[in-house]
Amino acid sequence: MNLCEKTLEHFRHQMVREQLLGRDISDKKVLDVFKNTPRHKFIETSNNKEAYGDFPLEIGSGQTISQPYMAALMVQLIEAKKTDRVLEIGTGSGYQTAILAELAKEVFSVECIDVLAERAKGILSELGYGNIRVKVGDGTLGWQEFAPFDKIIVTASSPDVPGPLIDQLAAGGKLVIPVGPRASQRLILVEKSEKGCVTKSDKTGCVFVPLIGKYGWSEGFE
Ligand code: SAM
Repeated sequence: MNLCEKTLEHFRHQMVREQLLGRDISDKKVLDVFKNTPRHKFIETSNNKEAYGDFPLEIGSGQTISQPYMAALMVQLIEAKKTDRVLEIGTGSGYQTAILAELAKEVFSVECIDVLAERAKGILSELGYGNIRVKVGDGTLGWQEFAPFDKIIVTASSPDVPGPLIDQLAAGGKLVIPVGPRASQRLILVEKSEKGCVTKSDKTGCVFVPLIGKYGWSEGFE
């Protein structure tokens, strides 16, 4: 059953109250952008209320759109601001790309599956986003042409932090990535000081789809 926009707005606000504010998402800018971004437009389902559930959802090609709370936590951790150029690895549905585009100056997003990248591009353009570039490629290599980036967000899990992403992070920048074995990972915040020193902190446990690429998992890993 597909619900009308007004009803979906009600469920979206409930999602923000219960799943984000009810946990540890306290940044008002982040809460507002999740309140205003129509997550249901990024998902193909016969029941669009599902878009506001407290779980990841399938988006095709064996991939998922992350649970709203996990997407919000990652966005809160990087503290995106209006002057930031953000690199996102793993465009997926394009939902988190849209969230980042509302908070930052420009978003550069890399997706390795072309049908997902094309679908996301179409939705983002229909919704009128003019500050996003999406490309198909191996995001473990970053996007050298536009580096350095003030913030980097990786939405798939890697055995370690890919070196090129650390290199492409600007001084004073923040990067968030799920790191660890296939079954479960830790969400790691990487910070680069103004002098270029890199520190890592463990934020929480998580489970993400794998980051497949030169500096991530190789295809067909166990
Ligand atoms: N944040 C996304 C959203 O809002 O829909 C969900 C991203 S999904 C959890 C992870 C994505 O990372 C998948 O679309 C997958 O194809 C992509 N991915 C995996 N390895 C990649 C790589 N090396 N480069 C770019 N994208 C990759």
